[in-house]
Order: sequence, then structure tokens, then C-alpha cells
Amino acid sequence: MDFHQLSSRKPDTSDIAPETVLHEVFGYGEFRPLQGDVIHEIVAGRNALVLMPTGGGKSLCYQVPALVRPGTGVIISPLIALMQDQVAALLQLGVRAAFLNSTMDFQQARDTENALLTGELDLLYCAPERLLQPRTLELMHQASISLFAIDEAHCVSQWGHDFRADYLGLDILAREFAHVPRIALTATADERTRKEIAERLSLTEARHFISGFDRPNIQYRIAPKTNANKQLLDFIKAENQGEAGIVYCLSRNKVEATAKLLCSKGHTALPYHAGLPPEVRAENQERFLREEGVIVVATIAFGMGIDKPDVRFVAHLDLPKSLEAYYQETGRAGRDGNPSVAWMVYGLQDVIKLRQMLEGSAGNDHFKRVERQKLDAMLGLCEITTCRRQALLRYFGDTLETPCGNCDTCLIPPQTWDGSVAVQKALSCVYRTGQRFGVNYLIDVLRGSENERIRQSGHQVVSTFGIGADMSASDWKSVFRQLVANGHLRADPEGYGALQLTESCRPLLKGEVPVQLRKDPVVKAKKGTSQGSRIKEQITDQVGWDALRACRKALADEQGVPPYVIFHDTTLFEILERRPANLAELGDISGIGAAKLERYGEAFLKTLSELGSVAPQAD
Ligand code: ADP
Ligand code: ZN
Repeated sequence: MDFHQLSSRKPDTSDIAPETVLHEVFGYGEFRPLQGDVIHEIVAGRNALVLMPTGGGKSLCYQVPALVRPGTGVIISPLIALMQDQVAALLQLGVRAAFLNSTMDFQQARDTENALLTGELDLLYCAPERLLQPRTLELMHQASISLFAIDEAHCVSQWGHDFRADYLGLDILAREFAHVPRIALTATADERTRKEIAERLSLTEARHFISGFDRPNIQYRIAPKTNANKQLLDFIKAENQGEAGIVYCLSRNKVEATAKLLCSKGHTALPYHAGLPPEVRAENQERFLREEGVIVVATIAFGMGIDKPDVRFVAHLDLPKSLEAYYQETGRAGRDGNPSVAWMVYGLQDVIKLRQMLEGSAGNDHFKRVERQKLDAMLGLCEITTCRRQALLRYFGDTLETPCGNCDTCLIPPQTWDGSVAVQKALSCVYRTGQRFGVNYLIDVLRGSENERIRQSGHQVVSTFGIGADMSASDWKSVFRQLVANGHLRADPEGYGALQLTESCRPLLKGEVPVQLRKDPVVKAKKGTSQGSRIKEQITDQVGWDALRACRKALADEQGVPPYVIFHDTTLFEILERRPANLAELGDISGIGAAKLERYGEAFLKTLSELGSVAPQAD
């Protein structure tokens, strides 16, 4: 049975089970735990509020009920690019999908509206401002609507970072379409936002479906910065050669320089920041989606509305301002559920820079206090000696009972050492030299270096001169970094990088409390984790893999869609492993529904059979 038969039977749908749609249309074996419950609720005509992390599978929660229930499912989505991607992917599945937004001309909009009225659409994506126009609402009243899905529902929250005024108008749906089930979806974690969503969208009576926020396939790694460029190149070379990834930097200049560096080492790297002309940005984003193995080097401006499932790594060369930002940015890795890495290096200068930016920013005291707390939490994660995932989830109000086994601190537990005396020496050196010097100078004094600057300032006679000769400069750097991160030292407000004592350092300076410090690891975290190894590490038949990828790429290019819209890597890998001999066997593979089997089945079987005939000669 293909989906056209299914959909022609749609008017009396009581006999189509959600599971059938899952198998036939999407080609998946089973629902993920929460999906089944949510779908059941909506199919029964009730409302729901759904909270799932990125990559959790929110789309199926409304796509399946929309196909099961009679009428058209209307999806409200704030991002036009995302809307277009989703529609393209659905059309691939043989689902009758379309969108209404400001990019279409009058005639296109008319055609779509007519298709809605005559019941020829399974799903219609619509921007909120469009939906709320009286004309569109009238149209909705005339059409048969199976459900309303409100995607990115946190946009209704005025306190959140993505507030959109149009979302506030969406509670009209509750009043005017009381008989149509509504489902609101978001990946935003915190309790306050969730309550706000429920209130503003009149969903307080609705059942809330909340799944944990863990992204178990993402490996978190944070290392002290020694030589950031070299560290990045080593990381990509050792683990991510030819993979798609995102590298985040704070400034445009650094974005440009890093992209150049990566290109000079043979990677395909593209810059992305607000200073580039819109058409260049659009083109670079497009290449990231369409081509394989492209690295985008970006300021934080990149990422909203990027739904690429096979991003294998997210690297931070600069520290994000908060854990919220860190989790959102790293969350762009591994939407497909395959092993991915969130990698970051950070150093003393980053800490100083962020603290200075914060203090120098416009904003009242309350604002700064909140920002300071957020930065402290971010630095806390960097310096932590226990499981990073547990700390992250705790911050978001979620719990993980045992250490995760898939972050750097779990894989290589960091050592701690009694830094009480070293800390005393460091703080005292800051004090004795008048709180006017930066870290390199302070380290020179501690280590007793004879240089011109020290002689000029007469600091070779202060009592702290040479008292730290027993430790290396990099060990001292680590001490100072931790003192700044923990707020015992701060950079001068004028921005020269001079370190000054804070109130909290007093007991440390006097030696009244012992201080445990983190010993910076010299080894890097090993890959190959509890999450299993990556697809590319499991491939034994590289020739076969390349041939299947080439087949996928050719089909994708023919239609102007990204390769993952044809098949995800996981599906492609299963084809390689199982070597299906015919369409029936191919159709058993996860991710191959009826429409894709019909469209692409022959092409992939042909590729496989060509491989088969070549293989013996290769032996
Ligand atoms: P979200 O919108 O929550 O970020 P998506 O809806 O894009 O997540 O789903 C993430 C990925 O998981 C998609 O590639 C999707 O095809 C896949 N997926 C979702 N549900 C299932 C399932 N039941 N079985 C297999 N794959 C699934
Ligand atoms: Zn861990």
C-alpha cells in the first residue's frame, strides 16, 4: 500500500492506525517513548503541550495525527526557511504539504488556498502573522482543519530570547476553533516559560508531555586553551575529517581568520557573520545544507532555523555568555541521534574579556547581576571536576542519577590538587605589585624572571619575587584562570587586563580556607564512548559507502534538496550493511517509506548491484 491509497481513504480514517502511517509514510519501525502518547492524545481530539529536546522528534507528534485525522493539519512556524525545508522533506514522503508565507506571490497563495479548501492538503505551514490576518482566519473556518500545531511555542514568552509579538494573538485559535485540537511544541526547558506558554495559549487544561533534556549522543568536552588554532585543527583532523561542523567565534575578524586557516589545511570552511552581505550568508548557509562535509565558522548569528541532522561537531573557540547559549549552540550537533562532539577550548583571556564586556555593558545593576550569575554558571561548568552532563542538566532542572560516561570529565577524570599555598602566593603577588599588572607579568615575578620591565618597576625586591619558581608558567596560568573564574580576582574595569583582588579572596590570602584546584589535563579525551562509535568508524566497505553517497548526492542535486532529505546517514549505512537484493528487502530498512522506496529504490539497488559485480575483481 502506498500513501496515495492511504490518503484516498482519508475521509473515513478510523481504520488508519498511527503505526501504519509511521511505517508506510515515514518508514520507521516504532514511535519513540513520548511520541506515541502525544499522538494518541491528539488523534483523540485533545490538546497537548509538548517539551522535547532538539532532535527528540517533535515533528512526528503533529505530522502523524494530521495524516490520521480528517482534514488539513495547520502548522504555525516562525521561521520561513525551516518551513520550506519541512515541506520539501514531506513532499519527498509523498505527503501533500504546502506553506503560506510572505515569500509567495499572489497566484501561488491563491493556489495553496484553493488546495486547502478542496481538501487536497494534508499539512499546511503558516507564519503566525499570516494566520492572524482576517482573510486567513476566514479561510480556516471554511476549510476542514484536523489540528493546529504551534511550533517553537516559547516564542509566546515575553521573557524568552525569541519573543514574537504575533504569537500572543494565537490564543484566538482556542476561542474560534474550540473543536480543533491544538498542540504546542518547544525545546525550551525552564518551568516558568512552560507555564507562560500554557497560559498564553490557553493550554492550562491540556496534558503536558515532558521528556528529559539530555542529548546522550553529544559528547561534551572542554579543555584549557593552549594554542587554540592548533587544538582545533588537531581535533578536526583526528576525529572529524570530512564531516560537517560548526565553529563558533565571538568576533567577525576571528571568524574570517579561522575560516581561512581551515581552508588552508584542506577543509571546506565558510564564514558566516552579520557583516557579510545577505546573499553571501544565504549562499554559505545553503552550501552547508546541500554539500557534505562543510564547516561553517560563525558568530552566534548562525544556527537559528538550521535543521541539518548530520552536524557531527560544534566547536567553540570563544566562551558563550551563558549555559543557555552553550546548550542551544552545542545542541545543533547530532540531531540525527548519531555520536557527535561539543568541543570547546577556553583560557584566562576569555574569562577576562567576558567579565569586562559584562561590566562595561549598558544595563542596570539588576541586569548585570543576572548576567554575572549566568557567566559564573558557564565558568563553573568549565572548571568542574565532576560529570559535565549532570551539571548541565541540573542547571536546567533535570536530573541524571549517575555520571554520564560520555563527557571529558567522565572519560578522563581530572585530578585535583591542594592549591592553598599556590593561591596564597598568587594573590599576595597581585597585592605586592599594586594590583596594576596582567597575568604574564605576575607570573614572571612569581617565577623570578630577570627582565627589563621587572627591573624598571623594582619588583625583583618584592617579597613574592621568585617564590613560585617551582611551578611552570602554564601551571601558574591555570591557577590565575581558576582564581578569575571563581571570582577571587577580577580584571581592572579600564580594560588593561590588570588583575585586582576582590572581597572574596581575603580568607584565601590569609590561608584560612584550603583550596582545591583542577589540574589541567595533558591528555585529550578519547573517542569511542558508551554511545558507540560513529558511522564512519564502522564502515568497512569504503568503496560501497562512497558509491551509495554518490548515488544519494546525484538524486539530491537533481531535485535541489540536501542529501539528508533523500536518506539520512543511518539509513544509508543500513543499506550498505544489509545489502538488500530487492525492493521488498530495501523497504524493510528504517527510514524508507513507500514513497521513497518507489522513487529511489531502483537507483540504490542498481548502485548495489554494480558494486557486487566489481567486488570480486577488487579482491
Ligand atoms: P525536533 O523537531 O524535535 O528537533 P525532529 O522532528 O526533526 O526533531 O526529529 C529528529 C530526527 O529524528 C529526524 O531526523 C526524524 O526523522 C527522526 N525521528 C523522529 N521520530 C523517529 C522515530 N520514531 N523513529 C526513527 N526516527 C525518528
Ligand atoms: Zn559525564
